[in-house]
Amino acid sequence: MAATIIDGKAIAERLRARVREEAARLAPSGVTPALAVVLVGENPASQVYVKSKSRQTLEAGMRSFDHARPASATQQELLELVGRLNADPEVDGILVQLPLPPQIDAQRVLEAIDPAKDVDGFHPVNVGRLATGAPALMPCTPLGSLMLIRSVRPDLAGAEAVVVGRSNIVGKPMAQLLIAESCTVTVAHSRTRDLPGVCRRADILVAAVGRPETIRGDFVKPGAVVIDVGINRVPNPAAGEGKTKLVGDVAFEEAREVAGAITPVPGGVGPMTIACLLRNTLVAACRRRGLPEPEL
Ligand code: NDP
Repeated sequence: MAATIIDGKAIAERLRARVREEAARLAPSGVTPALAVVLVGENPASQVYVKSKSRQTLEAGMRSFDHARPASATQQELLELVGRLNADPEVDGILVQLPLPPQIDAQRVLEAIDPAKDVDGFHPVNVGRLATGAPALMPCTPLGSLMLIRSVRPDLAGAEAVVVGRSNIVGKPMAQLLIAESCTVTVAHSRTRDLPGVCRRADILVAAVGRPETIRGDFVKPGAVVIDVGINRVPNPAAGEGKTKLVGDVAFEEAREVAGAITPVPGGVGPMTIACLLRNTLVAACRRRGLPEPEL
């Protein structure tokens, strides 16, 4: 039987609507959560992404402060900007769009962000809190992926989970979130022996590889929940010369024949990332002020 297609677009839209409701509930107490986004240089993909974040932040009834800097910006300038945003009581969340130009040490900039405003969840304090089970601001893509998993499988205790990829922004935090859900977690990577065999153990299979269609249909255990984090642009000669299309890290048409549920690309994990960013901004605004935190 073909898999249920997990509609990330619809689930993200519901989350954004909930964020909007909760932001409106804060308004009478004079609180309008605000997200500051720092963009350095003119990377077209980053520009599109930042524009979309700003628009969705405003649509959720929150404020968006954009700080664009030229590609020639120095590390010192960026650290000073982050310092000002840390000190600004109007700012609840700070996001520094990656990648940064080569003269800037991205890790140093990320570590300069106040952990209470670190809505990307990349600061070592939040990484440590997630690992130790303390309240953390959690990275948006893995958090969104977990929400998609829960939409089809609310109770994950005891499930075998395999995460393919061990990056700091997706694979590792995804594994931590699944451990917190009481899954038995395996993390696979480029040095894993017998990737197909490891994947076939998974009740929950998360692919964050960054290589198109690496996970084939015969890697998937029948009935598994498959979450495809990958976003890869590949040539699409069928649509015409020079045309491209987006594909995930999972061979979707093969995997959907075996999986119980699967996310498409696009329209799966992608929309959840910004929705979770809005969620984190709202949560940060509540925590900073000692207000009750909404369940989102
Ligand atoms: P990275 O390149 O940082 O990490 C990729 C991981 O995959 C590494 O751990 C690497 O192993 C592993 N890997 C690479 N090749 C293989 C292989 N053949 N077999 C097994 N493992 C392999 O990528 P990210 O984690 O940043 O991103 C992963 C994907 O998710 C990308 O397609 C990216 O575009 C997408 N993405 C999507 C987002 C969204 O909003 N939907 C947000 C962020 C990312 P090793 O560590 O050994 O090198």
